[in-house]
This record gives sequence, C-alpha cells and structure tokens, in this order.
Amino acid sequence: MSEQPILPMPSPNFDAVALDQRHVLRPWLHFESARTEGALVIETGEGAWLTDTKGRRYLDAVGGLWCTNVGLGRAEVADAMADQARALAFSNTFTDMTNGVSTRLAVKLAELAPGDLNRVHFTTGGSTANDSAYRLMQYYHHCKGRPEKTHVIARMQSYHGSSHLTMSIGNRGGDRMPEFKFLEDGFHHISAPDLYRRPEGLSEADYSALLVAEFAAKVAEIGPDRVGAFFAEPIMGSGGVLVPPEGYLQGIRALCAEHDILFVADEVVTAWGRVGHWFASYDLYGITPDIITTAKGLTSGYIPMGAMIYSDRIHEAIKESGWYASGYTYAGHPVAAAAALKVIEIMEREDLPARAREVGAYFEDRLQTLRDLPTVGDVRGKRMMMCVENVADKATRALHPEEIDIGKRISLKAEELGLIVRPMGHLNVMSPPLTITRDEVDLIVERLGAAISAVSSEL
Ligand code: PLP
Repeated sequence: MSEQPILPMPSPNFDAVALDQRHVLRPWLHFESARTEGALVIETGEGAWLTDTKGRRYLDAVGGLWCTNVGLGRAEVADAMADQARALAFSNTFTDMTNGVSTRLAVKLAELAPGDLNRVHFTTGGSTANDSAYRLMQYYHHCKGRPEKTHVIARMQSYHGSSHLTMSIGNRGGDRMPEFKFLEDGFHHISAPDLYRRPEGLSEADYSALLVAEFAAKVAEIGPDRVGAFFAEPIMGSGGVLVPPEGYLQGIRALCAEHDILFVADEVVTAWGRVGHWFASYDLYGITPDIITTAKGLTSGYIPMGAMIYSDRIHEAIKESGWYASGYTYAGHPVAAAAALKVIEIMEREDLPARAREVGAYFEDRLQTLRDLPTVGDVRGKRMMMCVENVADKATRALHPEEIDIGKRISLKAEELGLIVRPMGHLNVMSPPLTITRDEVDLIVERLGAAISAVSSEL
C-alpha cells in the first residue's frame, strides 16, 4: 500500500522522484544511483526535445530508446490512435478472428519488406518478436521433418531482448548477471564484428573472411543438421553500434542458405529509416533474410508493438500443419496498428528514410570531429545510429577502469548541458529522431564534446 494518496501530477506535493524510488522497479535499475540520484522525470516531448518536471529542456539524442523516429508530439498520430480507440479499442486476433486495421498494416509491412517476406505475425515488442522467431524456427524445421534442427547461433555482445529466451540468445557482458539464469543448451555465440577492436594488422576484408569462417566452423562443430537459426542485428545496437565489415553478412547469409539455417535479421533498431531505409538487411547489405523481427520505430514509440515478418517459403512449409499455438493477447492491437499506419504514412510523406540518409551523413561527419579529443578512441555508426567509444589510451585502445564509469559520467555531464546521450559501459550511444535538423546535430556534437572534455579534465 502506498503511504500517499495518488496525487494529480503537476501538484506541488507530487514528488515523482521520491515516489518512483518508493514504488517502481524500472528496467536496468541501478539500485545505488536510483537511491542516491533518483530518476530524471520527463513531463513532455516535442520533436527531439524533452522537458522535465522542473521545466528544463533536453535535446534527446537517444530518441527515447532508439524508437522515436518521427519525433514526439505528432498530433496526427495521437488523433489516429484516439479515433481508433473510439471505433474499436480492442479485438483479439486469435484463431478465427481479426481486425481490419491490423490486416491493413500487415499488407503494408509485406509491401515494404524485402523479397518474399510477405507473412506477418504481430507481437507486443522486440523481445516477443524474437521469441516468436525462435518458435517459428522450431515449427518450420519440425514441419520439414528435422525436429533436431533447433540450435541457435548468435553473436557475443548482441542484444535481442529481455525475456528469458531472448536474453539467452543475446550475450552482452553487462546483461549476464549472476543473479539470473540463462539457457545454455542449444545456444551458441560467435565473435561480434568489431572493426575497431579487430586483431592488429588485419584488413577489413581479411577480418570479414575470418568471421565468416568462424561461423562456418561453429556450424560444422554443432552439425548443420542441428543448427536451426542465426540471429543477427544487421548493425549491432546495444552491443556498441558495431557496423559489420564488408561481405560479412552476405557471407553468413550464403552459408545459411546452403544449410537451410534460418537467417533472422533482428531489425528492431535498424528498420524504419534509422539507417536510411525501411529495412537495413536488403537496402544496406543486399541480403534477404528468412525472418525480420522489428518493433520500436514501427510505431515510433507512440505505443508498444512488434512484428515478425517471414517468408512465403517458410509459410509454404508450415501451412499444412495443425495449430500454430503461439501468440499474444495484444497481437495486432487495433490502436497500435493505427499508430503504425499513421507513422508509416508520415515517413512516406516526409520521406524520412531519405532525410536520415542526408542529415545522417552530416551527423556522421560532424561527430567524427570528436576524434580530436584525447579520450575519444572511435566514432562509428551509420546515419541516425551512432556511438562514441571513450578510451584511456588511444594508441593501445585501453579502457578506463570500470569504476570510473566513463560513459555514465559523460552522459550525466551532457544532461547538465541539456543533452541526453545513452551511456553503455565506456560508450555513449545516439539514435535521435530522424527529423532532427542540421542545427540540432551541431548542438549534439557541441554539447557532447563539451561533456567529454569536462569529464576528461576531471580524471
Ligand atoms: N532487439 C534489439 C536489437 C533491441 O535493441 C531491442 C531493444 O532494445 C530488442 C530486441 C527488444 O525489444 P523490446 O524491448 O521492445 O522487447
């Protein structure tokens, strides 16, 4: 029971920080800093700007959490959701019912997705989309008469969601807490493609070949008849914005096709214009996956929704079976589908993927200037998905001791300067709305540079 009555929000007695500390276990809560510093409480948002409870404004270079692609405060998205809620707030899509608005969205996703990815299974977010891809992989191989083909290969440092299953598919060091258990049998991890930290003296082409060979060796070790799927973010996001070397995804795609290992492209972050295209797999890397999982930018964060988009080829193999006993109450939620349709309409009308290519190229260039700072080891990413890697020694690429918590210190300093950047270990990550202007890009670079300089001079 709360010790306080529920107070109206903008009331002098409403202390959101204290009440949050008292009642809420937020995702990735760091107990000590939550206790000592409390949370930054946001009240309103417009475009790429957030305003907190004290009226301070921040330029949100994180785009919520890689998701506010069309920007906040779009009245037409709110109206589309409200209209839909009035007309039909909910109807389930199980077994023998559906609703028109999610069907329209499925048609749109099939139109935008590459190749024969014409089949859509709606989910509630990215984790559930990847959970669903794992299930579909099992189902598909079972229908093909090979129920043993269920092992998954993914990469170290990958992030595919926070459910028990997807945390086991992913493998970021910081997430593997000893307090939690992870599935191990049937889950394998190969090296992440990290160009900045690749073995000394290796060319990009040789590094790419080495990584593809590692995948081939892992398949051979497990047995091609037992490997069911490869899960990969085209550009790894939470693992450090790792842009793959030339030829790497294509090489693995070819091996997957050879052994009928389903290539699951986790485009939870990389889709919806973030790197300049509707989806990154085909338009950026020329590969057509078997399954694309997505969420986030799909509704631009206005409401939760995810989707698994899979091939006609997979559907042909499963369609004669019995029950597809998997799915979520809120699959194809009408209000979420209405939001997604409106968000896609805005993206098409304003050609936001093209804008992300144009302003994103400027963002890449401007951010590269931070390399001149003595503690910036690497600046990398693509368009609206960027990252700065902070190091103690640029020559050796040695990291600062963990207790310095360099990424967090920089992001706190940036926050004081009115900029939100995301700390991830020694990294600061950015994924702003695709609508940001060149002036806002300049402001991000200026404030982040100032924050990095201020923190390095304190060290
Ligand atoms: N996959 C990737 C690549 C992600 O970055 C995320 C979230 O950040 C997820 C999956 C999980 O999505 P959700 O938090 O919507 O479940």
